[in-house]
Amino acid sequence: MTSTKSLVDCHVHLAALPDGDNGCFISSKLLRSPLFQFLLWKQDLSPAHPREANQKYLDHLLKELRASQHVSKAVLLGMDGLYDQAGLLNRQHTDFLVSNAYVFKTVRAYPDIFLAGPSINPQREDAIDEVHRCADAGAVLIKVLPNAQHFNPADQRYTPFYRALAQRKLPFLSHVGYEFSLIGKDQSLGDPDRLRLALEEGVTVIAAHACSYGLMFYEKFIPTFRELCARYPNFYADISALTQPHRLKVLLHLRHHPELQSRLLF
Ligand SMILES: [Zn+2]
Repeated sequence: MTSTKSLVDCHVHLAALPDGDNGCFISSKLLRSPLFQFLLWKQDLSPAHPREANQKYLDHLLKELRASQHVSKAVLLGMDGLYDQAGLLNRQHTDFLVSNAYVFKTVRAYPDIFLAGPSINPQREDAIDEVHRCADAGAVLIKVLPNAQHFNPADQRYTPFYRALAQRKLPFLSHVGYEFSLIGKDQSLGDPDRLRLALEEGVTVIAAHACSYGLMFYEKFIPTFRELCARYPNFYADISALTQPHRLKVLLHLRHHPELQSRLLF
């Protein structure tokens, strides 16, 4: 077998501590949480030296990618915040924000390895302008996390946003299922059934984690996943994190459904 480094990993989170001008943000609540403390400890990162910590995170990622046998590139994902009814950023309820400016800056520094997957909460007042800015800057997809960003993907008010994505041919990568890596929000917003509006508007939709719910063997979204695949040729799913024990049931399920496999992204 020939070794070809031909895979692109479409779901790699860019993480960054705020350094004063990278536009990133972390709430003190999240910074103090045990999970976050564990991640900092595991990666040997110090919040007291954000610039060094951010570079260290990147160096680690680059080292892994360069050493990979199969993966040549990674789409680096941003993380937008939570917006109020007027479309303004609500810092008080935003736990973690990785700015699109930082995503693009990082991709420009390593253009042979990284692709840009900025994040746009459709609730922000300039959401459509940001779609065009990101498309012009070379984004390959737009990432969202409805539970944490607290918006309902099925809300008809977002139709013009989806039309802009379809027009600019930007896939919409949405987290689905239970979200527990960030501080808990409205979990019902992670129901993949809410992605139909974007699909009807012709957007290429990618459901993260193959629609796994993420709570061990309780996989309530498998029927929706199969139905969306059957109905929409523009529906895809990524297989990120499926080897983790709490999502394994979906991986085992996929083995028995070859008709779904052409819809899976690495
Ligand atoms: Zn994600």
